[in-house]
Amino acid sequence: MQCPICGSDDIEILNSKQKKSKKKLTEEYLLKCQDCSHVFKDVFSAKKPKNYRIIISQQDKSQKTNIELSPSDELKVGDVLLSDVGQVEVTSIEVNGNRVNKSLIEDIDTIWATSIEIPARIGFSVDLHGEVDSYKLDLERDFEIAPGDIVKIENRIVKVHVIKTNERKLTSGFAKAGVIKRVYSKPVKFNNYDYDLTKDIFKKT
Ligand SMILES: [Zn+2]
Repeated sequence: MQCPICGSDDIEILNSKQKKSKKKLTEEYLLKCQDCSHVFKDVFSAKKPKNYRIIISQQDKSQKTNIELSPSDELKVGDVLLSDVGQVEVTSIEVNGNRVNKSLIEDIDTIWATSIEIPARIGFSVDLHGEVDSYKLDLERDFEIAPGDIVKIENRIVKVHVIKTNERKLTSGFAKAGVIKRVYSKPVKFNNYDYDLTKDIFKKT
């Protein structure tokens, strides 16, 4: 869309409302040109929702399905959609064979997303002087772990030393389970602990 006064396409949407007549669904917009500040109205026919292909990854597997979206909306990486398998976060958008960060929905070939309903599965290592006990844990995605945390796991009390996330290794601060790959810990001779992860063990390897 373009400003009728100066021709700029830098337009802000101030307000929109849908109108339904017998024949068609339209959307009326109140718009403001960011260049010359002209305020104007425009009416578009709102396109009916259509099915788009979405590939949703859930832990180790991925699933192809369809999702109904409005072709005239914009979609961007990080948006949360409600799919067949619950809430998913868009991780990539494919348009004409290219991966893009955002697109008008009608141009999209495939949406890639990851489920945010299910727990995060992280690795948890306990260093036993040469041997390592390695666990897979299922945790709530926003569960926070910090280096220095004292944790009970099975019959041991351990201290978290390093947290490896998708992007880096942390020795201070904290990370949410949703971005953690693996937590490294060592046994300590404490009786008290901050939390117990025994119930969250999916498997021990
Ligand atoms: Zn203008």
